[in-house]
Amino acid sequence: MSDIDAAAELIETARAMEAKGINSGTSGNVSVRVDGAMLITPSGVPYDGLEPGDVIRMAFDRSWAAIDPDRSTGPARRRPSSEWRFHLDILRSRPEVGAVVHAHPVSATGLSAHGRGIGPFHYMVGVAGGNDIRCAEYATFGTEELSVNVLAALQDRKACLLAHHGILTVGPDLASALAIAVEVEVLAAQYLAALAIGEPPELSAGQMDEVLAKMAAPDGYGSSPQPTTIVER
Ligand code: 13P
Ligand code: ZN
Repeated sequence: MSDIDAAAELIETARAMEAKGINSGTSGNVSVRVDGAMLITPSGVPYDGLEPGDVIRMAFDRSWAAIDPDRSTGPARRRPSSEWRFHLDILRSRPEVGAVVHAHPVSATGLSAHGRGIGPFHYMVGVAGGNDIRCAEYATFGTEELSVNVLAALQDRKACLLAHHGILTVGPDLASALAIAVEVEVLAAQYLAALAIGEPPELSAGQMDEVLAKMAAPDGYGSSPQPTTIVER
């Protein structure tokens, strides 16, 4: 896929965050792996009017430039997301990750304000790859400290919460990372509902092992052919 096509898919994903109810305004950011670099959304720019030329291509050595529709690189017309550091650190350290989604959804952010992750109160917690979804310790947005905290909370997982901030999800591609982000927000809302009458009992490690094995099986949940991606060209 060309950088232009990847940038178009990146923009569609950023817009879909609001359409799917997991983000609003200029909050959140999205990145996708391309050859030797990542494409990332610009900082503080509404997603509605974005064009591929607004997307930033940042190499793994942190040099960055605009995506030019003529394929020649030029000075970027936007600044990269303030969270470029955790996007780059995740893509550098997790070769299986092709895309990163960060958002501020209402329910999960509410939980994160208490520094709480999501335990195995529901078997779908397994979609994040383990028996819990951790909450990364708080650090100021855009800092190296936040990136370190996020990488720790994300270990062996495809999702984590960020204390007093929001959520972050990863996947092999943009559609998967977005789907997990939507699922994390649904789980957070269900967890808050359960908490309304007290701490819900949790599934045991054995029960979650069974769920994780079933989800990972080649004919497991989600292995049915999927409808076409969100990008229409
Ligand atoms: P950017 O607009 O710089 O991507 O920041 C949004 C955000 O969510 C910061 O954590
Ligand atoms: Zn944020």
